[in-house]
Amino acid sequence: APVVGVLALQGDVREHLVALAAAGATAREVRRPGELAEVDGLVIPGGESTTISKLAVLFGLMEPLRARVRDGMPVYGTCAGMIMLADKILDPRSGQETVGGIDMIVRRNAFGRQNESFEAAVDVAGVAGDPVEGVFIRAPWVESVGARAEVLAEHGGHIVAVRQGNALATSFHPELTGDHRVHALFVDMTRANRTAESL
Ligand code: GLN
Repeated sequence: APVVGVLALQGDVREHLVALAAAGATAREVRRPGELAEVDGLVIPGGESTTISKLAVLFGLMEPLRARVRDGMPVYGTCAGMIMLADKILDPRSGQETVGGIDMIVRRNAFGRQNESFEAAVDVAGVAGDPVEGVFIRAPWVESVGARAEVLAEHGGHIVAVRQGNALATSFHPELTGDHRVHALFVDMTRANRTAESL
């Protein structure tokens, strides 16, 4: 099975570990550069993106993360993790950096105060069957994408799922629903990349 890490600095790490294991991966926490070096793919969880950013710098992970994403390691970010994968944040907080990897501009907390949390059925390209139950928690949306990024889903006229090469990002949290199809898509991406690298 492909080894998929979950960046375990802050956020809903455990839920991703459970979802990844259910989707057929060997899942483990990543906190150090040495642990990052050993995984075939990585999930960046939901949480608070400024906190995750600052801890990544503090733990010496920011540059290794950028290097591995640049080298094509499969990476999946949910919510705060989506923000971490954006090449640009519209409204960054001071000291907030991103790993980047997806040519997109995200707006943090975009769905606004009235709707800080809500659920909605979302059709995700590449996920067969019924729509995914999207759990949005103070979620970002994607303002715009560049030519290399592919929009996989929209909600209310806003982009909420994007893929660029081996990088995948969703505004919402499939790890909270018990439906592991998005994680299965990511585990498949990781498996395919590992096979390609070994040829
Ligand atoms: N609003 C959070 C942020 O800006 C993200 C929330 C989440 O990950 N559920 O980082």
